[in-house]
Amino acid sequence: MFCQYPLSDQELTVTGTVFDIREFALFDGPGLRTTVFLKGCPLRCAWCHNPEGLTPEPQVLRSAGGERLVGQRFTATALATRLNRQAEILRDAGGGVTFSGGEPLSQADFVLAVIAGLDRQHVVLDTSGYGDELAFRRLLDRVDLVFFDLKLIDAHLHERYTGSANGPILRNLQALSESKRPYVIRVPLIPGVTDTPENLGAIAATCRCLTGLLRVDLLPYHRAAGGKYGACGLRFSPSWDESRPVRADTGVFERAGLAVRVV
Ligand code: SF4
Repeated sequence: MFCQYPLSDQELTVTGTVFDIREFALFDGPGLRTTVFLKGCPLRCAWCHNPEGLTPEPQVLRSAGGERLVGQRFTATALATRLNRQAEILRDAGGGVTFSGGEPLSQADFVLAVIAGLDRQHVVLDTSGYGDELAFRRLLDRVDLVFFDLKLIDAHLHERYTGSANGPILRNLQALSESKRPYVIRVPLIPGVTDTPENLGAIAATCRCLTGLLRVDLLPYHRAAGGKYGACGLRFSPSWDESRPVRADTGVFERAGLAVRVV
């Protein structure tokens, strides 16, 4: 897929901001992968475990251990060149590159330009689904697999816990269903918030109406989520009982005829 479409000078020099690059990742898609974490996310999920990925600009994290700059700017060409160094190893291991975040949709032009420079690599887009629909459709044309988060179906609860309405997410989910791209729905299980019978039932009902869904992944709750907030100048204040085990109710999905697994 190297240079899938001709790049203009402007596309070659488009820049983006990345807050981490994880090499040899085993859980971010099929095979062995390099995962690129794009900096900046329009949502503010109360349980976010990557608070250093929320703001779009590079930032200094301060903790007892000292200061550290998080966020590096790349041109698309520079990042693609770096990712291509391991292209052969990743291909041989049935893997490729995953774009995660933060929210990759917020830097869609940059991600598209990086993908165009990749050397025949399998590409996963790991997204909250919150972003511009046209940008999302353009990305869908260029990726091999999508991991799409569904958190809360109730509009008021979604706004309360993420700071934004879920309308754009549900519209992009419909676009995904129509796209013929393979995709996995991922549900972060937050005790008493997303793992309620009402919410999991509503997610199962939503998924039942989709086309092309491979499976539903139920993601465990990260109890260490709050660890990095202080260094980012933020406060982690969960309104749920963190000690309560989550309800990973696979039955509600199985009864809807959906493939489901607890990751
Ligand atoms: S969508 Fe992901 S990165 Fe963005 S705030 Fe929510 S958990 Fe954090």
